[in-house]
This record gives sequence, structure tokens and C-alpha cells, in this order.
Amino acid sequence: MSKFDYASLIVDIPDYPEPGVVFKDITPMMADPQGFSAVIDELAEHFLGRGINKVVGAEARGFLVGAPVAYRLGAGFVPARKPGKLPREVLSQSYALEYGTDEIQIHKDAINPGDKVLIVDDLVATGGTSVACAQLVERAGGTIEGFAFALELAFLDPRTVIGDHFDQEIFSLV
Ligand code: 5GP
Repeated sequence: MSKFDYASLIVDIPDYPEPGVVFKDITPMMADPQGFSAVIDELAEHFLGRGINKVVGAEARGFLVGAPVAYRLGAGFVPARKPGKLPREVLSQSYALEYGTDEIQIHKDAINPGDKVLIVDDLVATGGTSVACAQLVERAGGTIEGFAFALELAFLDPRTVIGDHFDQEIFSLV
């Protein structure tokens, strides 16, 4: 349970981006000075002292949370991006969506053998994005230390999806 009341700073948007989906808009939480520092501090403090030297965050909201968490941990930040966005040699991982597949990439030299890596995103829904990011890290020789999310959509059961592939800690604030 979180120390900060984030609920009032997360807005439900019905039927966005498509009918039947309730989108969780985190931009009010990021825009609020207390909300922003609370979310970054709480996620980072939970994983302090574990030797984490890299944080991987997925495009695009994963950058908003992942980069400041990395800074707070004294770690580097590695962006995971949609195909065609990174300029140098990449590792690519495809993953299943409800309909079809998607693909995410990191620079091939962004993770080195022995790196201790935290996967960070604003929100975990099915868990597919985070599993793909963690698979990229392992393919590059890094080890996964954990998963950190501001929000977890528990009704979609992302813990089962992530847990099918990784047994590291999954930590969510809301
Ligand atoms: P997953 O791969 O776990 O199904 O989806 C998580 C990814 O989709 C995250 O990168 C997250 O930013 C984005 N996402 C999915 N649903 C929502 C939502 O309701 N609100 C926000 N802010 N992001 C979402």
C-alpha cells in the first residue's frame, strides 16, 4: 500500500483509445509536483541498495517514469522503442497483443553481460510489454532484478503473464 494518495490524480477515460476500454490517464499525476516526486521516490526507494545499474523503460510513458527512477537509483536508462526509432544496431523482440503482435527494440550494446536491470513502466496491463523488455535484457546478457510500475491493472492478471517467464519481484504502487 502506497504512502501517497495517487487515486485522485489518475483519471479514468472511458472508451479510449477504443470502445470498451477504460484508459488510465496518468498525466495529472505526472503534472502534480507532489504526485510526481512521490511516484518516483517510492518506486526507486523500494529497489535501492540492490546494485541495479540499468533501468529499461518502454516507449513512451515508460520513459517518463523510468528515466527519473534510473537517476534516483544512480543507474543508467535504456529506452525500449518501437521498430525504426533507434539509429544503431538493435535487438528486437515481438510479443502478442490481444489482436496481432507488436515489436520492441533496444540498442544491441545498451545492456552488457552482468548488468543488473530493473524494468519500469507507468502501467502494466497484460504484462506483454514488460516481458518483451525483460527478454531483450536477458538476450543481451543482463539479469533482471525486478519490475516496477506506478499502476497495475490487476484484473488483467499481469502477474501470471510475467510470472510465466520471470520469478523476480513485481512492485506496483496502485
Ligand atoms: P501491456 O503490455 O502490459 O498490456 O501494456 C502496458 C503498456 O501499455 C504500457 O507501456 C502502458 O504505458 C500502456 N498502457 C496500456 N493501457 C494503458 C492505460 O490504461 N493507461 C496508460 N497510461 N498506459 C497504458
